[in-house]
Amino acid sequence: MSSGRASESAVVIGAGIVGIACAHYLAKAGLKVTVIDRAGIAGACSHANCGYICPSHVPPLTEPGAIGLAIRSLFNPRSPFRVKPSLRPSLWYWMWQFARRCNHRQALTAGRHLQMILDASIAEYRHLIPEQSLDCEWQEDGLLYVFRTPQAMDKFAETDRMLTEHFGVTARRLEGRDLPEFDAGLRSDLAGGFHYPADASVRPDRLNRQWADRLQAEGVSFLENCPLESIQKSRGRILSLTTAQGEMSADHVVFAMGAWSTRFSAELECHIPIQPGKGYSVTIERPSKAPRHPMLFPECRVGVSPFAHGLRLGSMMEFAGYDTSIPLLRIQQLRDAAGPYLVADVDGPAQETWYGWRPMTWDSLPIIGRVPRLENAWLATGHNMLGLSLAPATGRLIAELITGRQTHIDATSFSPSRF
Ligand SMILES: Cc1cc2nc3c(=O)[nH]c(=O)nc-3n(C[C@H](O)[C@H](O)[C@H](O)COP(=O)(O)OP(=O)(O)OC[C@H]3O[C@@H](n4cnc5c(N)ncnc54)[C@H](O)[C@@H]3O)c2cc1C
Repeated sequence: MSSGRASESAVVIGAGIVGIACAHYLAKAGLKVTVIDRAGIAGACSHANCGYICPSHVPPLTEPGAIGLAIRSLFNPRSPFRVKPSLRPSLWYWMWQFARRCNHRQALTAGRHLQMILDASIAEYRHLIPEQSLDCEWQEDGLLYVFRTPQAMDKFAETDRMLTEHFGVTARRLEGRDLPEFDAGLRSDLAGGFHYPADASVRPDRLNRQWADRLQAEGVSFLENCPLESIQKSRGRILSLTTAQGEMSADHVVFAMGAWSTRFSAELECHIPIQPGKGYSVTIERPSKAPRHPMLFPECRVGVSPFAHGLRLGSMMEFAGYDTSIPLLRIQQLRDAAGPYLVADVDGPAQETWYGWRPMTWDSLPIIGRVPRLENAWLATGHNMLGLSLAPATGRLIAELITGRQTHIDATSFSPSRF
C-alpha cells in the first residue's frame, strides 16, 4: 500500500463492511489504521444480508406511499414493513421527518444522489475484488424482480419506466412463460419479471472475512471485543478514546458504527438521526433446483440469494428499537412467502437464522463526512438498506476527505451538517 501519509494515523470505530472499506482506503492513502469493534469483525448488520450490489436500487425508501404502508403496519404484526407501536419521541420525530420526504420530487432528488454513489461503488468493487483476490462468490448475473400477479407486474412496469426515464437504468422484461427458461429455479405459473443486468452479488460473510484478512496482512490492526466507551476532546479535536482495552489516540477518528451511531451524538455535538431498521434472514442448505440468479419478490418483499453452499431468504423492515429477538414467526414468513415462486422446497433445515439492524436515516441517504464541530472526527454511517452496495465509495470518500484530496464524487449531499 502507498506510504504517502505514513506519519498519520486513524482509528475506525466499527468493523462492519463500512468500517472495513474505510480502513482499506485510509491504509491505501498511507495512514496507519486501527479498527476496533465492540464484538467481532462484521458480526452485525454486514454479516448475513442478501449480498446484492445493486445500482438498480435508486428509488429511495422515502417514496410516495411509504407512509401509508407504515401506518397500516401499526395494526398488522405480519407486515414485512412494520412500525411497532411505541412512545419513544425519537422514533416519532424520525417518522415525521421521514414522512415529510415521501413525495415524488424529493424521491427523485434522493435517487439522483444515491445513483451517483451506487455507480461509483460498483465500479470500485469491480476494481478491488480482483486486485485483492477476494474469493467471495462475486457474480455479475444481475438482479431479477419476479411477480406472481399481472397486477403487480403492471404496477412495477411504472417503476421500471421511471427508472429508465429518470435514471437511465434499464431492465429486460420477461413474461411468465419465459421465466423457467431464464432461471430453471422459478415456477411456470408466475406473471413475469424484470431483469436488471448491471447488478452484482457476493456472499457477504466471505467478502467481510477475506477483505479484513487482506488488510491485516497489509498492516491494518483489528481489535475485537473492544467497545468504545468515551471520547475525550479539547479545542475542537478528539484527543483520546477510552475503550474496554485501554486508552487510544489517533490523528483521525472515523465513526462507522452503523445502527449504534447515535450512541455518541452528544459527545460529538452532532445530530445523527438514525433508527435501527430490523431485518431477518434464514440461510438453508442449497436445495436441488435452487434458482441461479439473485432475485427479489416485491409483492412480499423477500429477497433470495443463491450461494455455492446455501440459499438465503431475507426481508422485513421493522422499526422496533434495538430489539434482539428472532421470532420463529418471522423466519417462517420468509419461507412461506418465497415458496410459491420457487421450484425448490425452502422448508429444509436452517444453517443460520439472523437479524440485522440497518442504520436508517430519514432522507434515505448515508452520512459521510466531517463532524461539523470537531476537526478530526468523521462519520461513515446511515447506509440504510444499501451498506454493502455503498461501502467502497464511502471508504474512498472518507480517505479523500481526510487527506484533503479531490473527491471522486460530490460528497455535499451526504454531509453530516445537513441535519
Ligand atoms: C435482511 C437484510 C438484507 C440486506 N441486504 C442488503 C443487500 O443485499 N445489499 C446491501 O447493499 N445492503 C443490504 N442490507 C443493508 C446492509 O446490511 C447494511 O446497510 C450494512 O451492513 C451496514 O453496514 P455498517 O458497517 O454501517 O454497520 P454494521 O455492519 O452494523 O457495523 C457496525 C459495527 O459497529 C460496531 N460498534 C457499535 N458500537 C460500537 C462501539 N461502541 N465500539 C466499537 N464498535 C462498535 C458493531 O459491533 C458493528 O460491528 C441488508 C440488511 C438486512 C437487515
